Amino acid sequence: MYDFVVIGGGPAGVAAGVYAARKRLKTVLIAETIGGQSTDSQDVQNWIGTPHISGMEMAKNLEKHLREYASDTLELIIGQRATSVTKADGGFTVTTPKASYTAKAVLVTTGGSRKKLEAVGAEQFENKGVTYCASCDGPIFSGQDVAVVGGGNAGFETAAQLLAYCKSVTLIHRSPEFLKADKATVDAVLAHPNMKTLVNVTPVEVKGAQFVNAISVKDNATGAITDIPVAAVFVEIGMIPATAPVKGVVDLDEWDKIKVDAKTQRTSTTGIWAAGDCSDGIYHQNNIAAGDAVKALEDIYFFIKAAK
Ligand SMILES: Cc1cc2nc3c(=O)[nH]c(=O)nc-3n(C[C@H](O)[C@H](O)[C@H](O)COP(=O)(O)OP(=O)(O)OC[C@H]3O[C@@H](n4cnc5c(N)ncnc54)[C@H](O)[C@@H]3O)c2cc1C
Repeated sequence: MYDFVVIGGGPAGVAAGVYAARKRLKTVLIAETIGGQSTDSQDVQNWIGTPHISGMEMAKNLEKHLREYASDTLELIIGQRATSVTKADGGFTVTTPKASYTAKAVLVTTGGSRKKLEAVGAEQFENKGVTYCASCDGPIFSGQDVAVVGGGNAGFETAAQLLAYCKSVTLIHRSPEFLKADKATVDAVLAHPNMKTLVNVTPVEVKGAQFVNAISVKDNATGAITDIPVAAVFVEIGMIPATAPVKGVVDLDEWDKIKVDAKTQRTSTTGIWAAGDCSDGIYHQNNIAAGDAVKALEDIYFFIKAAK
């Protein structure tokens, strides 16, 4: 029996793996891949302590750090997907297509993927002006006109961030009203003189040459198409959390994210923790994912030691 299973190999999973090994917990880390979502990024500029690093290089560093500790206490199962977590005698069993691992505690760090913009050219211009991370790519478009697609809290928070340095921000929303965002945030963002909105419209095409230069939207009421000249399109239309292995085992929110206690990262089920983008934390960043996982690990350590 293991002390602890970590599921996931993004910044959250790797941070938990390193900390668990340093605390000499008998741990198994199961990850389909190591590196996480920002492996796709050309230049990560906010991984604290490292001003510039490509996502690929960051993934290599994460794996290197993990392998430093992979020895008698930390076992790495890389290239496999955990398919289920079930209750077992004295803990939980995590199953992959090849084996099962039983432990006293489980940390879920399976992250997720961003919902992609379904418009002509959106895929072609990804990383050429179409972006899914304002904190990562926003400063590149300083002084320029940009668009944000999405009228929920994430859309408004992204707009607020961009307004600090972009010439103008046009928020594009498919519904006539902003019912999914907090009124206070909406009012504060809309009060900014450089903020514009287009409501009840659907993005139909991202246009450009080498880089984005416009987004076309269709008015849902009239069908009229309008081109809005922008240098970048920030997409904030939601995330698809990879929480299928724990569905029915821990409480999920309406978007299938794992509900956690923000002080400890505990889920609704004693013995299971969650951290990073698969949890219901509002902000999605590498440093936050790693920090939340470390917080969970500290709590898990006391849980395991107290149970002895
Ligand atoms: C294109 C892009 C660029 C970004 N750039 C930045 C940036 O510059 N700075 C920044 O701070 N943030 C950035 N982000 C956000 C950041 O990448 C995420 O917040 C962060 O990766 C979340 O880490 P995580 O460990 O929670 O999950 P993830 O990074 O999603 O990692 C999840 C891990 O779990 C594994 N996994 C999933 N399901 C299973 C399963 N069932 N069994 C086993 N393994 C599983 C995956 O293979 C992966 O290793 C970016 C996001 C995107 C999409």
